Amino acid sequence: MENDRAVPQNAEQLRHNDNESTGGGKSGQSVRRYSHWQELINNLPYMVMTLLGGAVLAFGIPGLLLRYAAASVYVVYGVVGTLWIILFVCPYCGYWGTRACPCGYGWIAAKIRARQTDSCFTDKFKRHIPVIVPLWFIPVVIGIPLLVRNFSWGLLILLVVFALEAFVVLPFVSAKHGCKECPQVDTCPWMKGKHEGTSSYPSAETS
Ligand code: SF4
Repeated sequence: MENDRAVPQNAEQLRHNDNESTGGGKSGQSVRRYSHWQELINNLPYMVMTLLGGAVLAFGIPGLLLRYAAASVYVVYGVVGTLWIILFVCPYCGYWGTRACPCGYGWIAAKIRARQTDSCFTDKFKRHIPVIVPLWFIPVVIGIPLLVRNFSWGLLILLVVFALEAFVVLPFVSAKHGCKECPQVDTCPWMKGKHEGTSSYPSAETS
């Protein structure tokens, strides 16, 4: 099947030359490599959202055991969601096994699963991203009824901060930084239309 994704021609070169910033390739353009610090920074919005969601549950749910159990399950869900993407989406990405992935999932995926065909990337993305979508809604769906039944300023503030982080800060940072710099930006279903044609990364068409 024809691969219609804009996979950099030098992604393959990056896999075999992962020691320094790589320029050239067929396109002659450079592909940015991310340090572990940069990867950590790019993961921070998701990590903060997960912790805030856990805090909403821990603060709002009555009963010591129940509240910490719910918060723990939510945070574990956030971690498992990340692993899910690494296992079921990243192996289909052209940046599997390289340091060109902004959040570091690419090189982690290479340690646990073999590379799969790039042509399925969009399908896999659409199929598996919904697995993590409930993370955005669980604290709100549980927190608002708790707030109505037993109002507290602490829970209200946590819910507002969570909502701002999940629905404003994270999408904004992703659109302006993490996803904007992602090599997949021109073909990603999430970013498609928001960022078309502005990726600084070499694409198949540039070769
Ligand atoms: S760019 Fe996206 S799909 Fe590709 S390896 Fe990184 S996180 Fe996974």
